[in-house]
Amino acid sequence: MNAKLYGRTGSAHAHAIRDFLHRSDVPFEWIEVASDEQARGLGLDGPNDPRLPMCEFPDGKRMEHPTVRQITEKLGWFRDPSRSEYDVAIYGAGPAGLSAAVYSASEGLKTVVIERWAVGGQAGSSPKIENYLGFPGGLSGADLADRAREQACRFGAEILIAREGVGGEFAAGKRVGILEDGTKIVARAAICATGVAYKRLGLPNEDRFVGAGVYYGGGASEAELCGKEPVVIVGGGNSAAQAAIHFAKYAMRVTMVVREDSLKSTVSAYLVDRIASVKNVEVLTTTEVVVLDGDDLLRSVTIRNRNGNTTQTVQTRWLIVCIGGLPNTEWAAAAGVIRDEAGYLVTGADLQHNGQPPQGWPLDRAPYYLETNVPGLFAAGDVRHGSIKRCASAVGEGAMAVTFVHRYLANG
Ligand SMILES: Cc1cc2nc3c(=O)[nH]c(=O)nc-3n(C[C@H](O)[C@H](O)[C@H](O)COP(=O)(O)OP(=O)(O)OC[C@H]3O[C@@H](n4cnc5c(N)ncnc54)[C@H](O)[C@@H]3O)c2cc1C
Repeated sequence: MNAKLYGRTGSAHAHAIRDFLHRSDVPFEWIEVASDEQARGLGLDGPNDPRLPMCEFPDGKRMEHPTVRQITEKLGWFRDPSRSEYDVAIYGAGPAGLSAAVYSASEGLKTVVIERWAVGGQAGSSPKIENYLGFPGGLSGADLADRAREQACRFGAEILIAREGVGGEFAAGKRVGILEDGTKIVARAAICATGVAYKRLGLPNEDRFVGAGVYYGGGASEAELCGKEPVVIVGGGNSAAQAAIHFAKYAMRVTMVVREDSLKSTVSAYLVDRIASVKNVEVLTTTEVVVLDGDDLLRSVTIRNRNGNTTQTVQTRWLIVCIGGLPNTEWAAAAGVIRDEAGYLVTGADLQHNGQPPQGWPLDRAPYYLETNVPGLFAAGDVRHGSIKRCASAVGEGAMAVTFVHRYLANG
C-alpha cells in the first residue's frame, strides 16, 4: 500500500512534500482536498484546515502538517553522524556527490554524505535523462538517484538527508562542516558538491506563487497533476525542452517561452527534433514572461515579445521555470574559500596567477585539479567554476575528486 498525501491545491507546503517524496522514490498518492464534505470525511474542518497537508503512511500513522524532517524521521531516514570523524565528508547528494560517495566508500574511505533535501539534486527533477551513458532508453532522475544511493550505501557510505551544511572551519588538518542545527561533521578531507539552486524569474509576485502555480526545475512531481490544462515553460535549454516533452503527455497545450531566437543553439539536437514532433508544444522565441497574476493560486502569465514589444496573456495554473541555477556558496566566502564573481568555487590551475599559487596557500605543491585554495577541500560538479553542466561530467568529477582526496591524505 502506498502512502497518502492529502492537501489543498496551491499549497506550497504540500508541493514541497510531493517533491521530496517523488525525488526520494517513495510511492504515494496525492489526494486533493477540495470540498468541506471531503475534509469532514478526514476529520478536518475544511480545505483550509491548518492540519493540512496531512500524510498517512501504510502502517496507518497520520502526520498533520508535517515538516520534511519529520517525514524523514518517520521513514527512519533521519540520522545523526555515527562517527566522531570521517576520512571524507561530501556535501550534496546530486550526481557529483553520489558518485564521489560510491568511489570513496568502495575504496575503503570512511565516508559521510550530507544532503539538505533529497538525493538526486537537479537531476532528481528530470523526468527523463536520455544522454547518460549506459541507459539507451533513458531513465528518470529519481531512478538514477535511487540507484546511486543504493550503490553508495552498499559500499558503506553514510547518507544524512534533510541536513544542510551552513559553515566550515578548516584548521589543524581537519575539515569541520557545521550543519544548520549546530552538528559538527569532522573529516580529514571534504568534497563540496552542492551544485546550484534554481534561478528565479525575479518578478514581483513570484514568491507568492511558489508551489502555488510556479515550479522550478523539471517539475517531475507535478506533470501528472496538470490534468489537460495549458502549461507554460520558461527556458531555452535542455532541461526546459525535456520538461516540455514530459508535460505534453498530460497537458492540453505546452507553451515554451524562450529568450533566444531559436532552440537550436541551446538545446541538444535530439530534443529539438522531439519537440518539433510533439503536436501540443508551441515554442515562442524571443519572448519572456513579464507578469504573474492570480489569487491564492497562479491564474495567468503575461508573455512579452522582445522584438515587437507586444504582449499576450495565457490563462494557466502551471508555470515551470527552467532557467538554470546559481551556486549557493555564501558559507565559502565566510570561510575564506575563493569563488568567482558568480559564486562558483575556483579550483586547481584556475587558482594560479603567473604560475603562482593563491595568496596564503600553505604547501610547496600547487593545488590539485578540483582542489580549492583550502588544502584538502575539493569541489566537484556544477558548483565548480568552469564545470560542464551535465550529469556525466558531474559524475566524472565526483570520481576524480576522490582520487585527489587519496593523494591529499597520503602526501598532504
Ligand atoms: C530539469 C533538469 C533536467 C536535466 N537533464 C539533464 C540531462 O538530461 N542530461 C544531463 O547530462 N544533464 C541534465 N541536467 C543537468 C544535470 O542535472 C546537472 O548538471 C547535475 O545534476 C549536476 O550535478 P551536481 O551533483 O553537481 O549538482 P546538483 O544536481 O545541483 O546537486 C547538488 C545537491 O547538493 C545539495 N545541496 C546544496 N547545498 C547544500 C548544502 N549547503 N548542504 C547540503 N546539501 C546541499 C542540493 O540539495 C542538491 O541535492 C538537468 C538539469 C535539470 C534541472
